[in-house]
Amino acid sequence: IKKIGIITSGGDAPGMNAAVRAVTRTAASKNIDVIGFYKGYAGILDKDYIELTYSSVGGIMEKGGTILRTARVPEFKNPEIRAEAAKNLRELGVDGLVVIGGEGSLTGAKLLYEEFNVPVIGIPASIDNDIPHTDMAIGVDTCLNTAVDAMQKLKDTASSHERAFIVEVMGRGSGYIALMSGLSVGAEAVIIPEVPVDYNELTDRIWQERKRGKINCIVVVAEGAASAYSVARHFENKIGYETRITILGHIQRGGSPTAFDRILASRMGYSAVNFLLEGKFGTMVALEKGQTVTVPLEKVLSEKKVLDPQLIELVNTLS
Ligand code: ADP
Repeated sequence: IKKIGIITSGGDAPGMNAAVRAVTRTAASKNIDVIGFYKGYAGILDKDYIELTYSSVGGIMEKGGTILRTARVPEFKNPEIRAEAAKNLRELGVDGLVVIGGEGSLTGAKLLYEEFNVPVIGIPASIDNDIPHTDMAIGVDTCLNTAVDAMQKLKDTASSHERAFIVEVMGRGSGYIALMSGLSVGAEAVIIPEVPVDYNELTDRIWQERKRGKINCIVVVAEGAASAYSVARHFENKIGYETRITILGHIQRGGSPTAFDRILASRMGYSAVNFLLEGKFGTMVALEKGQTVTVPLEKVLSEKKVLDPQLIELVNTLS
């Protein structure tokens, strides 16, 4: 391999820059050239890129977002457009493409590999932790810590005023962030897409706790399960607290990556280059039992990630 191309694509996730840095520096140590395309697949289609070097990626690890920027490129679902991308990559001499992104981006990578033999490898980055076959994706830990920090602050003011807060967090298809942040702040309840909620039982339970003297209540809801407003309507006049709503929104995507995400991204970026050199194309770097391994993209994308039922049980037991 002589020249590696990198894109960051789809939803941004803290730690993407650390992955770009790791890919670049690992490649540089093996005298492989690296270019970074801007705005995901758009940069490949427009041949809009910069050369990345050992020194040019200095100081980016701690930055949130992605220096390569990201974009959604819906036309990439069209095979003729993908053919153009494959042609551009060939013309530029890119003989290894690293795609850092979520399931959508990895689907684009899989198709480039299957249809046009583009030597791709994926790195999972998604704050939702919804990518199958890897224990963690880049950005999950930072997002979680941001959510927990915000909820802890809400809990302070909730206690002062004896209020309930309904906090809506990200997670369209996955309740991971809601569940883990709820666990971390000792939320009264966590509402996630994976588990149907019985509002009668829930409102009654919160009311009983209130009568026993509880002075705050945090209910976490994943955006994919319900909106905070609809949850509030179920609670109206039934839980014994004045209720407030907070939608954490896009602050969950930003911020300097945590040590965990920096380390994960560095390991995955380093491994991506080594796996490309071993010819493991059409795969994704995954974290499995603490090790970085490859999983065929085909396998990753044919499944849905399931939340560990034990985690759900744990949160139910402690809340
Ligand atoms: P994420 O990668 O975070 O899941 P998206 O689902 O928005 O984000 O996907 C990012 C980009 O990946 C899309 O804008 C598109 O360029 C590409 N992509 C997504 N789905 C497909 C698909 N089915 N076929 C080809 N390319 C896709």
